Amino acid sequence: MKGDFLFLGTGASMGTPVVTCKCAVCVSQDLRNHRLRPSGLLRIEGKQFLFDAGPDFRHQALKVGIDQLDGVILTHGHYDHIGGFDDLRVFYFYKHQALPCLLSRATYHELKLRLPYFFEANSDQGMGGSRFQFKVIDEEHADVLFCNLQWRIFSYTQNKMQVSGYRLGNFAYVMDLKEYPSSIFDHLKGVEVLVLSGLRQRPSPAHLTLDEALEFSKKVGAKQVWFSHVSHELDHEKTNEQLPREAQMAYDGLEISIVC
Ligand SMILES: [Zn+2]
Ligand SMILES: [Zn+2]
Repeated sequence: MKGDFLFLGTGASMGTPVVTCKCAVCVSQDLRNHRLRPSGLLRIEGKQFLFDAGPDFRHQALKVGIDQLDGVILTHGHYDHIGGFDDLRVFYFYKHQALPCLLSRATYHELKLRLPYFFEANSDQGMGGSRFQFKVIDEEHADVLFCNLQWRIFSYTQNKMQVSGYRLGNFAYVMDLKEYPSSIFDHLKGVEVLVLSGLRQRPSPAHLTLDEALEFSKKVGAKQVWFSHVSHELDHEKTNEQLPREAQMAYDGLEISIVC
């Protein structure tokens, strides 16, 4: 399978520039330092899959012209990953078909907590839940047929919240990584293109540092690693100069080819 992955957002939870901040990265003219909340579009086998629908989803969709989706894949229930979920209803109105959505049981639970009105019957907005075809995965890891493609889902945790990583062939998307079982390396064995969260150099209670993320990626042994979910503490160009060629910072609008 051949396809490509378009980075729709490579920023951390507050995006870059951060509202009120006047640091060198936030005022930078380099567009690669302008980062929307983390998301990506995988185009493969004539299909389009959205990874996460954060609060910038609508803006991202209009910016790159997303006019159809075959499926949505959610990593977890934090706002920076699902804040734009409501906006996905538009695909139902456009196609008159429920939009397939792949997620863990824990994320499904979070979605219901955060968008309670969405799942209530007897109201127009409450129809939201029925405008999606949820494929809810109960197991901590599983091989799943979703939209006729074979995905692997696996779990790790961030501040006690379960987060899902996804693998399709040799491509993997691993966001918000902090604590993980060693079995994660079994799930990622043979991955060639890895999209991985790498927040900043300073330690964070919720994320690996960039150095830790780099160490993690070396253990995976991917040929190409792209860091996303990047905070305003990292300047794109300066950071890339210090990183190895095979592990670089992504930026909004970057498109990479993948062969699965
Ligand atoms: Zn800043
Ligand atoms: Zn996040």
